[in-house]
Amino acid sequence: MTQAIKIDNLKYNYNDDQVLFDGFNLEIDSGQWVALVGHNGSGKSTLAKLILGLIAANSGNIDVFGERLTVDTVHHVREQIGMVFQNPDNQFVGATVADDVAFGLENKQTPSIEMPRMIDEALSIVGMLDFKDREPHMLSGGQKQRVALASVLALQPKIIILDEAMAMLDPDGRATIMRTLQDLKSRFGRDITLVTITHDMDEAILADRVVVINDGQLILDGTPASVFSQYDIIHHNGLELPFAGELVEKLDTKPKSYLDERELIQWLSHLNK
Ligand code: ADP
Repeated sequence: MTQAIKIDNLKYNYNDDQVLFDGFNLEIDSGQWVALVGHNGSGKSTLAKLILGLIAANSGNIDVFGERLTVDTVHHVREQIGMVFQNPDNQFVGATVADDVAFGLENKQTPSIEMPRMIDEALSIVGMLDFKDREPHMLSGGQKQRVALASVLALQPKIIILDEAMAMLDPDGRATIMRTLQDLKSRFGRDITLVTITHDMDEAILADRVVVINDGQLILDGTPASVFSQYDIIHHNGLELPFAGELVEKLDTKPKSYLDERELIQWLSHLNK
């Protein structure tokens, strides 16, 4: 299986008296949806910055699709990664939704004849094509984040990292982004790798894999159901169980087969009806 991201023996500290990562390892397979969870200050955003080469590790290696991240490769590596950040308002540059998606394509020197099709395609994937002539600032939070996602998708990244991208959204906005991410997974399959960074366990439910970090250390790593069932460790690391995790907790007395991820999602969708 191709590895999208391989972090090997990473060491990083912002200052001499605080080592954040020391001997940190993480491998993410191509096509996986990984929720990177941890309370504030646990090192999630720093990890994203290291993967993007915005900051350099003290030691250790980061490989993206087998390419070692160095000063020489950083631009090529970055081209393969799209980022969506917390505050949708900070990500808009265009006067209309379509202008906004066009911006990244222009930067990439996409031939102008190809741009309208690429813009429409990206907007239709996130269900925002009907909004293409709207002013971005007039949209709801969830719509804004879908446009931010379209701007990233238009550049055809292999990896998308969403750093607390749902943190400022209301429950409806959050639900539309979760649904959009699910759609992306079914549409692109192994061609897209998703990393959703969050302090909110509820956003981890639909991921293939949940990685919990605390103070730069990997605490738990597994399917949502297997991670949620470790509620003692989750509480101990300052995190709240998601609603689904509470369900798992309640159902823990039943056979373990009830705790698999597919059933967890089925319960959830049933409950949401
Ligand atoms: P998270 O994304 O999980 O909230 P961060 O990666 O932002 O965590 O932060 C991890 C740790 O590194 C925290 O202790 C934070 O205070 C520290 N930190 C983050 N950015 C900087 C910086 N620019 N300079 C110094 N320390 C930082």
